Amino acid sequence: MPSEHLDVLIVGAGLSGVGAAHHIHTAFPRRTYAILEAREASGGTWDLFRYPGVRSDSDMQTLGYRFRPWTQAKAIADGPAILDYIRETAAEAGIDRHIRYGHKVVAASWSTEDSRWTVEVQRDGETVQLTANFLYLCTGYYHYDGGYAPAFPDVERFAGPVIHPQQWPEDLDYAGKKVVVIGSGATAVTLVPAMTDKAEHVTMLQRSPTYILARPGEDKLANRLRRLLGDPLGYMVTRWKNVAMATLIYRLSRRRPGMIRSFIRNETVKLLPPGYDVDTHFKPRYDPWDQRLCLVPDGDLFRAIRHGRASVVTDEIAGFTETGIRLRSGADLPADVVVTATGLRLLAFGGIRLAVDGKEIKLPETLAYKGMMLSGLPNFVFTIGYTNASWTLKADLVAEYTVRLLRHMDEHGYTQCVPVNDGPEITERPLLDFAAGYVQRSVHEFPRAGSRRPWQLGMSYANDVLLLRHGRIDDGTLRFRAAERRPVRSR
Ligand SMILES: Cc1cc2nc3c(=O)[nH]c(=O)nc-3n(C[C@H](O)[C@H](O)[C@H](O)COP(=O)(O)OP(=O)(O)OC[C@H]3O[C@@H](n4cnc5c(N)ncnc54)[C@H](O)[C@@H]3O)c2cc1C
Repeated sequence: MPSEHLDVLIVGAGLSGVGAAHHIHTAFPRRTYAILEAREASGGTWDLFRYPGVRSDSDMQTLGYRFRPWTQAKAIADGPAILDYIRETAAEAGIDRHIRYGHKVVAASWSTEDSRWTVEVQRDGETVQLTANFLYLCTGYYHYDGGYAPAFPDVERFAGPVIHPQQWPEDLDYAGKKVVVIGSGATAVTLVPAMTDKAEHVTMLQRSPTYILARPGEDKLANRLRRLLGDPLGYMVTRWKNVAMATLIYRLSRRRPGMIRSFIRNETVKLLPPGYDVDTHFKPRYDPWDQRLCLVPDGDLFRAIRHGRASVVTDEIAGFTETGIRLRSGADLPADVVVTATGLRLLAFGGIRLAVDGKEIKLPETLAYKGMMLSGLPNFVFTIGYTNASWTLKADLVAEYTVRLLRHMDEHGYTQCVPVNDGPEITERPLLDFAAGYVQRSVHEFPRAGSRRPWQLGMSYANDVLLLRHGRIDDGTLRFRAAERRPVRSR
């Protein structure tokens, strides 16, 4: 039997879950809520990933919460600093007392008759149930139990350790060793310069290049603005400055890819030794922002290459040998330690099985409404951040919208809200419209997006501010039901 009922149940105590709780708790201090967290710690991504140099690759003025200025000098921050920021946010507002660790949500089912969710939770080897009026998923977007590692031929022959960055051994000793990092994404470009602190040499082995752009680790203007205007105002101005810059680069990448391509190439050439083969190692086959652009603070990756402590090999893996990796070109790459920075395994909504009135919900059959609710799922909100901008920009907007939605329901005496797609002209498209391999591998397991608003997945923060912070709640697509269970199509 359900033992406890809450007004709002948040799942996941990462950056998004803590932010969501802050918004809900501030707006409705008397509403009951809990955060169910599968792990024994908060912070999500920023607690899980422990590899050397782990850091953000977006600036903290946009990866930070709108309501809590980032006050450190570094704009591209280290993982532990981000983790502290999340935990301090939780502690200051007393949110940490609402987190229930070791609570893995495995299923959630909605009852229209009872107007509530019943959530099945695995805790200490047993299954318990909780009920809630509103379910708010902040479960991130990938499997926590392990990353993506392709099956490389003969990997078992290799005498040294093969490590995935998602499960970094605390005691890994790579001092004086030859390290090969397989991959070319954000994790690889972080690890390579970071591991040159102790390794004899670090090689980044990539199948194909990625766009990599150097930018200052410290944003001097942001720090000056904070000193001049104070933390809250300085932070807000920098946040908008960074949103505007990122939007400009993104839009130009889409509209004038050739221009951005040559801009990135010129910047790269300046940071590499004369005569370096830029086109083999740093000229991607795709256009900028077809996949996420990697940022490197203060050009650290290029500096490591210039100093001869790191190098890039662009080739394919034929197989492992006892002492390293044999490449398709026939060359042998010696290694003592191999790191497979080959990506994540995407997972929609923490793998939670969803049902409405006894009917199982197949996610690919649902449409995402405003990129934060699902067609046919009442009183349900989820957070998936932008792929072309900082995650938290969207997470904050989702939370703000949820607060407005709950207020709207209070004012009208509604107990249920559900997005309904009855527009036959809406065509479907992938929720994550992104060419990266890790997205393509799993996007079919996710809900779909629609061809036009409000089913389109917004990728523009400015548009989403208008839509989610200021747009009408009662837009005709979101249907409400009052306490007496009479369906209301309010307009
Ligand atoms: C290495 C790395 C670097 C990144 N850098 C950036 C960056 O610079 N900028 C950017 O915008 N984004 C970045 N991202 C994306 C990043 O994940 C988000 O920025 C952000 O941390 C996501 O926060 P979240 O709380 O939504 O999800 P997560 O951090 O993934 O947290 C989800 C939480 O939900 C819990 N959970 C999941 N399923 C369940 C369940 N069924 N029951 C109970 N609990 C559950 C998890 O245990 C976890 O604690 C990065 C991601 C990685 C992996």
